[in-house]
Amino acid sequence: MKISSMLNGEKVTISCELFPPRENSELTKAEDTVRRMAELKPDYMSVTFRGGGKTAGNSVWVASCVQKYGIPALAHLTCVSSTKDDIGRLLDCFRKNHIENVLALRGDIPKGTDFPDSGQYHYAWELIEQIKRRGDFCVGAACYPEGHVECEHREDDLRHLKQKVDCGCDFLTTQMFFDNNIYYNFLYRILSAGISVPVTAGIMPVTNSRQIKRICALSGTALPARFRAIVDRFSEKPEAMMQAGIAYATEQIIDLISNGVKSIHIYAMNRPDVAGKIMDNISEIVK
Ligand code: FAD
Repeated sequence: MKISSMLNGEKVTISCELFPPRENSELTKAEDTVRRMAELKPDYMSVTFRGGGKTAGNSVWVASCVQKYGIPALAHLTCVSSTKDDIGRLLDCFRKNHIENVLALRGDIPKGTDFPDSGQYHYAWELIEQIKRRGDFCVGAACYPEGHVECEHREDDLRHLKQKVDCGCDFLTTQMFFDNNIYYNFLYRILSAGISVPVTAGIMPVTNSRQIKRICALSGTALPARFRAIVDRFSEKPEAMMQAGIAYATEQIIDLISNGVKSIHIYAMNRPDVAGKIMDNISEIVK
């Protein structure tokens, strides 16, 4: 099923994210994670992609595994570390495995390398164009309510986002945010810029304080004072941190749904236990 038709419907959709294993020896464990996540019955599951093609096969494998449970997979695909030919082969592979939803991304430019050469794509919009040309895929893209970290001016970032949508991107998924007002403000700004595709809200339940500080420092995501207090207070108590992180994410999701947001993506980080607790907390709310 195309994710765009789900997102354009009336029902609230909840999706979860998985990442593929680096090593083939970890595939059995990955299969178990998919099974446990599938038991939660998310509307779809996204599978991240590691640049360079080393684990590309594992991404396709995990996405196919998701679909065996009758749940649509959203396969992420980054272009910065692959040639155009590699991308073409991967798209063929998606098609062969009945994967019809792709999140088209540039990926982070590997440290110490120059901007991609002429045999590669420079930006996600070019990848979106190719995917749309090559088949009947439903294509999503990333967006950044606080602006992408490399882009100095938010208005330029918005213009680049519009370019992705104009190239045929069917929906957007946000970078994680911890203050819903940032998301509401972003929705207002993109509507003013003429972007009207669905925008799935990306929510990260924080279970590891060190990791979150590092991710936020890299991505420029703001940590509201209320959230920072939780992270500071419970950083040395993993179980308390997890409980507080789940409660915070749940509160964010309830606020979003109360304000009419229809699609939520949980950055579940391969943690069905964490995603499951959030799903339990909102089970009546999403009915
Ligand atoms: P782009 O949309 O190409 O934008 C990159 C930068 O270039 C931005 O600053 C933008 O403003 C600028 N830009 C765009 N077009 C132009 C133009 N025409 N001229 C000048 N500048 C331009 N990374 C992974 O490696 N694997 C994953 O699976 C993955 N999944 C993700 C999922 C989500 C929902 C999100 C939000 C991010 C994900 N990322 C992933 C991270 C992502 O790859 C990085 O944030 C990356 O730096 C940018 O990717 P993009 O697709 O947004 O790039």
